Amino acid sequence: MKDRDHKLGIDRPISRRDFIGGIGMALSGSLLSCSWAETKAPLDGLPFDPTSADSLATYPPIRTGLRGNHPGSFETAHQLRQGKRWDAAEVEDSGEHYDLVVVGGGLSGLATAWFYRETAPDARILILDNHDDFGGHAKRNEFWHSDKMLLSHGGTINIEDFNQYGDAAHRLIRSLGIDPGRFGEFSDWELYKSLGLKNSIFFAEETFGTDRLVTGQGEPSWREYLAKTPLSRTAQEDIARLYESKTDYLAGLSLEQKQERLRNMSYRDFLLDVVKLQPESLPILQNDSYWAIGIDALPAWVAVTEGAPGTLGLGFTSDSKEPVYFRFPDGNASIARLLVRSMIPAVAPGTSMEDIVTAPFDYSRLDDPDTPLRIRLESTVVDVRHRGDPRTAEEVQITYVRDGQARSVRADRTVLACYNSMIPYLCEELPAAQKLALSQSLKAPLVYTSVLLRNWRAFARLGVRRVECPGSYFTSFRLSDPISIGDYHHARSPEDPIILNSYRIPLAPGLSAQQQWQAGRQDLLSTTFETFERNIREQLGRVLSGGGFDPARDIEAITVNRWPHGYAYGQNPETGQVAYLLDEVAPEKAPWHAARKPFGRIAIANSDAAADAMTEGAIGQAYRAVMDL
Ligand SMILES: Cc1cc2nc3c(=O)[nH]c(=O)nc-3n(C[C@H](O)[C@H](O)[C@H](O)COP(=O)(O)OP(=O)(O)OC[C@H]3O[C@@H](n4cnc5c(N)ncnc54)[C@H](O)[C@@H]3O)c2cc1C
Repeated sequence: MKDRDHKLGIDRPISRRDFIGGIGMALSGSLLSCSWAETKAPLDGLPFDPTSADSLATYPPIRTGLRGNHPGSFETAHQLRQGKRWDAAEVEDSGEHYDLVVVGGGLSGLATAWFYRETAPDARILILDNHDDFGGHAKRNEFWHSDKMLLSHGGTINIEDFNQYGDAAHRLIRSLGIDPGRFGEFSDWELYKSLGLKNSIFFAEETFGTDRLVTGQGEPSWREYLAKTPLSRTAQEDIARLYESKTDYLAGLSLEQKQERLRNMSYRDFLLDVVKLQPESLPILQNDSYWAIGIDALPAWVAVTEGAPGTLGLGFTSDSKEPVYFRFPDGNASIARLLVRSMIPAVAPGTSMEDIVTAPFDYSRLDDPDTPLRIRLESTVVDVRHRGDPRTAEEVQITYVRDGQARSVRADRTVLACYNSMIPYLCEELPAAQKLALSQSLKAPLVYTSVLLRNWRAFARLGVRRVECPGSYFTSFRLSDPISIGDYHHARSPEDPIILNSYRIPLAPGLSAQQQWQAGRQDLLSTTFETFERNIREQLGRVLSGGGFDPARDIEAITVNRWPHGYAYGQNPETGQVAYLLDEVAPEKAPWHAARKPFGRIAIANSDAAADAMTEGAIGQAYRAVMDL
């Protein structure tokens, strides 16, 4: 094992320390293994001295290792769920009073503060979040290679379709200076094409009997592509038919009848029983995940709405407009940074969507008593209650735990922009029916990993940019999207360092979606950074070995963004199953409508309140919560 680990580079000085408690002692590998040590002096304009371990303590985006819901962020919340309560004797009264306290500093919480200030510009607001960085899922992963900044999304990637944003979300995005229509100016989609890099599939020995990377997915035709794979003749025929034909497998039924049938079967059953694929053809599809669930638990009707293979000939058409897509190099973390800078100007210089990307952020300004908006990180809220009868009380008391100490603050009003299923534990005075509705909000787990590579020569030699890995630990990986904006420049040559993004959806096929997500959360809680690291190194080594990739030499840093509470979903109260499509539940029956009702001086936001995993849901619910107050 030692020899093998050495070959993989497990013993190299990259950070695999879990950042529990004091973080300063672990000098990140992204800094150590890069050539900062050779750098003479800190570069002008950097937010920190990258040669110093202190920078890790003061600038969270550069922390590597286990991120997302990082160690230190969730333990207090889990104690609360297990029954711990902080009685008055344990709670220190901070004496602080605010017009508004927001629980949760994700996009919904930040947007809440932004909308509140539209109507009350002088309001004093405190945002409390349990993480060491703001933004929630919209997390920035920042790496440095010598004097070059490399960025990745740690969670939320993009504005998927600006057309889907409601009026309030439109106004917020535009007011921050983001013009989604300008995306073409910043993206260089021709880069990988010009180098002949293609999408590919890696067939792993454990599932397909042999390790084989087959490049040029589906080219020149699926039939010819599949002939190069280790799939059996039967599976090749099946998959080619699935991808190439637009057969109506439910011919003879009306669209309504088709929909009814498709709503009541899984996509896997549709493929086996309706399309008549042979079971031996499924392994290449088994790992396909649609919105964090595999084909066995995904309703076939949802697969239709996603345009999944085998569904295109069924006669359903979409009348949606061409999407208006936008993304920053660090994903929607730049939206979070724009929100914070707009409300606490001292935190970072600049005024535009271009300069936000490289703007140095001074985290010491986030919780400044002299500014009207304060953001207090590493603070888990454990209790929210009215001071007196909720119908007449004039204040709310919010208790949070930071560094093991419980403290209370008071506010005229509060918005809970945190996970809705946690609210019944926080806010015991809510009516029982509302608590039940809140507890029905669901989250799907995901893992997004950012890997800093010294160069991407192996990708160029093999002609690959994105690799699907059915049956493997990471289900896909891809070179980062070539986006350059402001002073930020994406890699142009295979000699340059680059970020590789890899994805894992911890599924447990055979169980219901909710059970799979529960099992996935357990999986994430018990998986160490070493396990993720070993899997990344082994998998990349196997897939890219033909291009000369050496995981020990070529991997410089790894950040694993663990999201056990990821995509938001609601529950269909009639079936007890996941309501993938919101129109399947009448509003008066939707638990998320009952869950988000205001209660006295408390309102409820978060994407959970929309049962919608997308950013527009998080922002739209922030606006609605502010209007509720
Ligand atoms: C991996 C991933 C990728 C995604 N990609 C996209 C995408 O590309 N495009 C898109 O539109 N949407 C995407 N989404 C969805 C999008 O990220 C969310 O809709 C949105 O960011 C959610 O924001 P939020 O503020 O509602 O929740 P969150 O981001 O979860 O923020 C809530 C915050 O509250 C904190 N909190 C919870 N309880 C407490 C407490 N008791 N005390 C203090 N703080 C607390 C949480 O830890 C968190 O920081 C993605 C989601 C995930 C998980």
